[in-house]
Amino acid sequence: GLTIGVIGGGQLGRMVILEGRKLGLRFITLDPSPHCPGGQVSDRQIVAAYDDSQAMKELANACDVIIYEFENIDGAMVRRLEDVCAVPQGSRLLETTQHRLTEKKAIQASGVPVAPYRAITDRHEILNVMQEWNRSVVLKTTMGGYDGKGQWILQQEEDLQTLPDEMFTSGQEYILEQLIPFVREISVVVARSTTGEVSAFSPTVNLHRNHILHLSVAPAMIEQEVIQQAKELAIQIAEHLEVIGLVAVEMFMLPDGSLIVNELAPRPHNSGHYTFDACETSQFAQFLRAVLGLPLGSTQLHQTAVMVNLLGEHQNAFYSQFSQLSQEVKVHWYGKTEAKRGRKMGHLTFLTDSVSEALHLIEKTGIWEPLTLKELHEIGLETIK
Ligand code: ATP
Ligand code: MG
Ligand code: MG
Repeated sequence: GLTIGVIGGGQLGRMVILEGRKLGLRFITLDPSPHCPGGQVSDRQIVAAYDDSQAMKELANACDVIIYEFENIDGAMVRRLEDVCAVPQGSRLLETTQHRLTEKKAIQASGVPVAPYRAITDRHEILNVMQEWNRSVVLKTTMGGYDGKGQWILQQEEDLQTLPDEMFTSGQEYILEQLIPFVREISVVVARSTTGEVSAFSPTVNLHRNHILHLSVAPAMIEQEVIQQAKELAIQIAEHLEVIGLVAVEMFMLPDGSLIVNELAPRPHNSGHYTFDACETSQFAQFLRAVLGLPLGSTQLHQTAVMVNLLGEHQNAFYSQFSQLSQEVKVHWYGKTEAKRGRKMGHLTFLTDSVSEALHLIEKTGIWEPLTLKELHEIGLETIK
């Protein structure tokens, strides 16, 4: 059978591997931490840093195909791997999406709108642009950020003083974006196969807390035309970028229903975890089908699904609720050893007939703070019935 090398042994790799094992595939994970979530379910783990070229060579020698579930790896390293092993996702998609400026340009080049943005290297530029736009802005590091790390919202000029000088001394580049007054955050995971076949999953509406995804709702409670538009834009990007594998497209919906794209991820996405239990084919299985050139599976959504993340701070409440969880609650625990605050430890997917019903069950567990009225609005509900 085929042996697949997985660069990155986080929960995304773990769930890809769990799905791949059903297809009879073998997996070797490369990740610096022993007992990482992906390593636990692999046939073998190479414990090494992502910049260890010797370890990468070892992985390439032992595998038929290499995939990545982690995007902060050196593009040049992946290019070298491409010379000796099949790396269907390729280095180009990685390099485009790992830098916010090249990513924004690529989205624009696909004909899809993004928030107005500027490249920034010093404090004065920010001030100038803020005066020019006369709008609240968000400053982001161009590389390596996730879960809102490396982001600063600046509402007025005085907020600039909260930024430490060190941020601008090493010539580091930032991106400054207009803060978008969105009414919904939605995302679409699209698969594109080596054969060019494309397929989009149902868009989700996403709710963040402290910049970390809290929950995702499928199907998204938005107008059918917007759902259609979201899928079309995501497919347009996947085709323009000639994605092989998956691309997750995060979007903002404006009050008039128009969409702008926030960012991309060249891999399975947290907002697509609902597909594991609610869809005919999961995003993880689809990812493998796409990179291996198998016909893509049906993305049909069988049931309403609400996926909620379990962070480090929820671990104890989760353990104490575990025996009470009914069978419409699907448990995914990643097996991470250290439960740090804000760290994604697992997720629960609630399969119900309605979003209200799922939210009711979620609230009943007592694991998370109940949704506020503002949060309910953000996912398209007035109240929980
Ligand atoms: P992720 O964990 O999704 O990779 P990230 O750290 O890469 O997150 P973004 O997705 O760019 O960062 O931003 C995190 C969140 O911050 C967004 O989901 C959104 O809620 C908010 N945000 C980011 N950019 C903007 C913007 N231009 N206007 C309004 N809100 C924004
Ligand atoms: Mg991101
Ligand atoms: Mg994001």
